[in-house]
Amino acid sequence: MNLSAPLSDIKGVGEKTVAKLDRAGLKTIRDLLYYLPRDHEDFSRAQSIKDVKPGRVIVRATVSNVKLSRKRRGLTITEATLSDATGRMRATWFNQPYRRTQFIDGKEYYFSGNFEFSYGRYQLMNPSAELAEDHAERSDEITPIYRASYDLKPKQIRAILRNLELYVPLVSEYLPERLVASEKLISRADALRFIHFPENEAQIAQARERLAFDELFELLLASELNKRENNKLKAAAIPFDLAATKEFVASLPFKLTNSQRVAAWDIIKDLEKPTPMNRLLQGDVGSGKTVVAGLVACLATKSGYQTAIMAPTEVLANQHAETLVELLEPFGVSVALLTGSTKKKQLIYERMASGEAQVIVGTHTLITKKAIYYKLGLVVVDEQHRFGVKQRQELLLKCGALMPHLLSMTATPIPRSLQLTVFGDLDISTLSDMPAGRKPIKTELVSPNSLDGLHRKVEAELARGHQAYYVCPLIESADPDAEAKSVKKEYLRLKNVFKGYVVDFLHGKLPADEKAQKLLDFAAGKTRLLVSTTVIEVGVNVPNATVIVVADADKFGLAQLHQLRGRVGRSSTQSYCFLVTSTSAKPTQRLLEVEKSTDGFYLAERDLELRGPGEIYGRMQHGDLDLQVAKLGDTKLVAKASRSARLFIESGENLLEYKELYARVQKYQKLTTLN
Ligand code: ADP
Ligand code: MG
Repeated sequence: MNLSAPLSDIKGVGEKTVAKLDRAGLKTIRDLLYYLPRDHEDFSRAQSIKDVKPGRVIVRATVSNVKLSRKRRGLTITEATLSDATGRMRATWFNQPYRRTQFIDGKEYYFSGNFEFSYGRYQLMNPSAELAEDHAERSDEITPIYRASYDLKPKQIRAILRNLELYVPLVSEYLPERLVASEKLISRADALRFIHFPENEAQIAQARERLAFDELFELLLASELNKRENNKLKAAAIPFDLAATKEFVASLPFKLTNSQRVAAWDIIKDLEKPTPMNRLLQGDVGSGKTVVAGLVACLATKSGYQTAIMAPTEVLANQHAETLVELLEPFGVSVALLTGSTKKKQLIYERMASGEAQVIVGTHTLITKKAIYYKLGLVVVDEQHRFGVKQRQELLLKCGALMPHLLSMTATPIPRSLQLTVFGDLDISTLSDMPAGRKPIKTELVSPNSLDGLHRKVEAELARGHQAYYVCPLIESADPDAEAKSVKKEYLRLKNVFKGYVVDFLHGKLPADEKAQKLLDFAAGKTRLLVSTTVIEVGVNVPNATVIVVADADKFGLAQLHQLRGRVGRSSTQSYCFLVTSTSAKPTQRLLEVEKSTDGFYLAERDLELRGPGEIYGRMQHGDLDLQVAKLGDTKLVAKASRSARLFIESGENLLEYKELYARVQKYQKLTTLN
C-alpha cells in the first residue's frame, strides 16, 4: 500500500471514473485524500417545510418547475418550487445556470441554505442540493460535501473516499514533530480522517483547525523567509538630511498631515539602513502619497542616488513628472520622463546612465533592459501592492551588488487580515488622515430614468466654475473598439446637453500624445466636462473637478468605484459622485456600500467579505492563493501560525528536510503581482 499509487489501483473505480478524476487533477491516492470537502451537512436535521424559520435550514423536498431566466447582461436567475408533505417554498439561485439541468423534476433532494426575505418574499437563497437517495442509507451521519467537478458527482467522490479510509494511517506528518507537540496539534492523518469521515462536530472542528493551521503556517513561513532573504541583501544607506528635509517641507504650499509625517519618517529610517527597504505606503485616494515620495526622492538625490518612479499608465507618469518637476526642481534636482511614447528615448537613456537625470519618472520602461542607471538607490512603484519577485530579481541584476530600496504605493488599502498574512513580508505605512479641509464626497445612486435631474445637478457645478468627469463602462464585446464607441456616443449626447461648456472625450485607444494633451486641457480648465473610460481611474489629480458621474455603475467593482470617486474631492470644495445604476431595479450590495461609505479601508474589508481573498488577490498573483480551510480573519490562529513560523526558522531546522512543506512554502514565496 502506497499513497502515490494511481487511483486506478482502487477496487471498484472504473476506467471512466479514473479519467474524470485525472481531468480534475486527482491522480494518486494522496491527491484524493487531500481533496477536502467544502462543508459538512447533517441531514438528520432536515426540517419539514411548515416548520422552517428564517436562517440556515435544511429541508428534504421534491423539486419542480425549475426555470432559468437571464436578466440583464451577466445575471441569471434559476428558480424552483420545493415541496414536501407539509408545504411548499421557493428556491432561487443567482448566477448558477447549471442548476437548470442539475435537477430531475419530481425527485427528492436535500436543500441547505438561507431562508430569507428577498425580492418581496421569503425563500431559500442559493441552497446547495444533494440527491436524497444518495444518502438513504446513512442519513443519520454527518456528510462531507464535496465540490462537483469535471462530471464527478459528489456521491462518487464520497464512495471512492470511503474505500480509501484504510490508507489514512499512511499519511505521515509533514511538520516537525516538535512543532506538532508544542502547538498541541492533532496529527495530519487524524485531521484527514476527521474531515472525510467525521463522527461528530467536534472532530470536524479539530480537523479544520489543524488543516487551517497548516495553510497559514506555510503562508507565514514563506513571508518570514522572504523577509529574511531581503534582509540578507545589501543596499546603499541613504543618510537622513535634516536641513534638506526641513527645506523641502517648508517649500510646500500646505502643511503635511500627521500621517504623512509619520510615513515619511518610517521611510527615512529604512533608507538609513544598509539593507533594502521593502515598504508599502497605503493611503486612501487623495491622502497625499505623491508628496511623500517626492520628499524621499529629494533625500536620495542629495546623497548622490537616483530614484526611479514607476506609474501603471503613461497618463499617470506624465502627471507625476509634472508634479515632481514642481516639487523638486527648486532644489536643483533634475527630473526626466521616460515612457513608451517618449520621443528621444536614447537621450534619456544616456542621461540616466551618466547620472545627469536624478529622478526618472515613467512606466515599466524604467526597468527594461535598455534602462541603465548610474546609481539607482530608490524605486517607487505607484498604484501597486507589491513589487514582484521577478521584477526584484531584474532590478538586482541591473544594480549589481546593491539592491535599491523599494517603496510601493497603493490607494486600495489592504485589510488588516491580509496585511498579516499575504503581505506579511512587507513593512506597511498608512496614511490614515486626509489633508485638512477636505469634505466627504456626497455619493448618490441615480436611476437611469432620472437623467434630467442628474444633468441639472452637473450643470449647477459647471456653472460654479467647476469641472466634471463622466465615466462610461468598459463594454465587453467582440468589437475591440466598442469602448471608444460608447464614449463617443455619450460624448455626442452630452455635448448637446451641456451646450454652453467645452466637452471633450478620452479613451485608451487614442494615441498617447493625444491622450496627454486632452488631460492637460482638462487639468488647465479648458475642458469642463470630460467623457471618459476608466483610463482616469487611478491617480489623475485635477482638484477643480468636483463631479464624477459613473454610467452603468453596476458594471464596476467596489474598489474600482471607490478609486473613480477619488478623482473628485481633491480640494476643500464640496464634491459629488453620481452612480447611475444599469436598471431601475434594486441596486446591488456593492453600490449600496459605496453610497454609504467613503472610507476606503471599510470598503476594502467589505470587498474582501463579498468576494473573498482568492478573487481579489489570487488572480493578481502568479501562484494561486489556494486556501481551502483557513480564514485569514482568524486572528488567533494567524498569530499562532506566525509565532510557529518564526520559531521554526530560529530553531535552525533545515526546511529542505521537510520535502512536502518545502515545496508548498516555495510556491507561496513566489506569489507576486502581475500588473
Ligand atoms: P494620492 O494619495 O491619491 O496619490 P495625491 O498625492 O495625488 O494623492 O494628492 C492629492 C492632492 O492633495 C494633491 O493635489 C496634493 O497636492 C494635495 N495634498 C497632498 N498633501 C496635502 C496636505 N498635507 N495638505 C493639503 N493638500 C495636500
Ligand atoms: Mg496617487
